[in-house]
Parts: sequence; structure tokens; C-alpha cells
Amino acid sequence: MKIILSILPVLLTLLFYSCSNTVEQSPPGSNPGGAASGIECGTETVTSSMPEIKLPYQNGTSHLVTQGYNGDYSHDSAPHNLALDFEMPENTAIVAVAAGKVMALKEDSDTNCTSSSCADSANYVLVDHGNGVYGRYVHMCKNCVDVETGDLVEAGETIARSGNTGWSTDPHLHFEMNSFISGCSLSYPFQEVPGTGIPVAGNTCTSGNDGSHGVSYESSKITGNAFAANGIILTSQTPWYISAGDSIRFQGSVTTGETSVTVFIMGPYGGNPLDYETGVVDSSGNFNFTFVPDLTAGSYTIAIDASSDGSFSSPSSLTFLVE
Ligand SMILES: [Zn+2]
Repeated sequence: MKIILSILPVLLTLLFYSCSNTVEQSPPGSNPGGAASGIECGTETVTSSMPEIKLPYQNGTSHLVTQGYNGDYSHDSAPHNLALDFEMPENTAIVAVAAGKVMALKEDSDTNCTSSSCADSANYVLVDHGNGVYGRYVHMCKNCVDVETGDLVEAGETIARSGNTGWSTDPHLHFEMNSFISGCSLSYPFQEVPGTGIPVAGNTCTSGNDGSHGVSYESSKITGNAFAANGIILTSQTPWYISAGDSIRFQGSVTTGETSVTVFIMGPYGGNPLDYETGVVDSSGNFNFTFVPDLTAGSYTIAIDASSDGSFSSPSSLTFLVE
């Protein structure tokens, strides 16, 4: 089968956190607006089904917000512009903003600097908080992550300790809530922050994260219309992240008459597929197949497209993680 691919690279800035006083730089060829959902960053809103969150440090403690949403230094471009930097001495406890499941982490770095050359060196924890949103907690000190991938955590539970790793000038915590479907940071209110619930640079915010909120958690699933722009409607409860070796089921329908469906897994910035699986579309337009990607733990992008002649073109892609 001939497969022709021209996949739009998608910006997944997992490795490009920047909280220095230099301008954030996107990877070459990045396409921040390239989600298959067609959602533009800044237009997706927090819904009542998304979890309530409280500040990511211990109940009763206070920290200065050194950079807020759209901050000039390094929060100035989508998809990671709706982010917060909290001034925080090294080794300060970082707690989960809501209940969730640890998707991915890095804690082996001991380096930082004030340029993008250190972007890969940021330690971090990613936590799925359910209903399509996850938290990014970034810049921890070396060996300062206190959870493992796959762990369930409670609201207010200590998950890591702060540091100054990666593209960072001073010890602090960078935190943002992200959408799986758009890949964008979200304007996401904290329950205990007065007014809009959104901390502002220059404010000192006191945590009320006593763990009494957000006690229920159900892992986020790829929404049915995530690949609607490619003519695909999913009905399977397909996760946004898997453990290496897991089998993933793809069940749904094709809305545009093609006879096969292919799932592609690519690197974090798109490019040629690292693995793929094709399923047959029946006469009713439905498909149902499983895929066991041959991938090690890491961050990837996923795309699904339909075809009748074995050629696929420009399927946009979304964040996908292997833990
Ligand atoms: Zn930041």
C-alpha cells in the first residue's frame, strides 16, 4: 500500500517551557493552530464538566505571581500563553490542583540557563485531571518528583518539589491547565482566587488547596469529534495516553465515504509516522480495529484519516502520550 503523507507538524511545547526574561521561541515549522478539532487557541472555554482546581502549593502558603497570562517575558504566544509563574524557593512542595492521574514526568535534569538551549532540561510532571484537561507543572529540582507515571493523586497531594531547571532564570513553578483536544492552555479559574479566579502578575496568592474539592476523577478520553475535520467520528473510549505495549481500540464511522481508516503516531512535532495501523470501513461506513503501537514512553502526536486509495494527506494531529 502506498502511503503519501504530508502531515502538518503540531506544536507540542512539552520541551519548550520558558520562564526567563527572553522571548519564547517556537520550534521550527510549528503550527500552533493545527489541531484536528479546528479549535483556535484562546477560543476554548472552561465548562462546568471540567474539574474545579485550587492553587498548586500547600494550603495556607502564599506565593508571588511573577508572570501571568500573556506575560511579556515568555508567556507571549499560543498555545502556552495562559500560564502562571509562581516565585518559589527550591524544594517547595508542589501539590495537585485537583484529583488526577500522572501521565508523564521528567526529573533527571540538574541544569538551567537563560536561553532556549536549555529548554529540554526542564523537569516536569503532567497530570490528567479528567474531562479533557491536564495540568503541566514545570521546573522541578533534580529527583524532586514524588510520584510515578500511572499514579492516581488526590487534590492537594504533594507531587513534586520546585526548582530551577530548564529555560529558567530563577526558582519558580510554571503551571498551566491544557486541553487535550486543542493542545492549548486554557483560561482556568482557581476556586480560592478572588474575582475572576485568575491570578495576575504582581499579586501574592494564598492557597486554599485543602483537598476538599475535585475528589472524583475519570481519565480523559479522545472526544468523538476530535478528528471530525478529517471525516472521522469516534465512538470508542480511546484514551489520550497509554502505557507502552497497550492495545488501543478505534471504533467509529467515516462521514465522507472512504473505505479505510488509518491511525498514525508521529513525533511530538509531527513528521513521518513512527507507527500506524489501518482498519477497514464496512458498507455502513463503520470501522472497529485495535492498534498496539510499537513505542517507548514519551510524547507523540496522533492523527486519524480516511482514504479509499491508500493515500493520506495532511491529517492534522493531536497530543498523545505513552507512559
Ligand atoms: Zn512560565
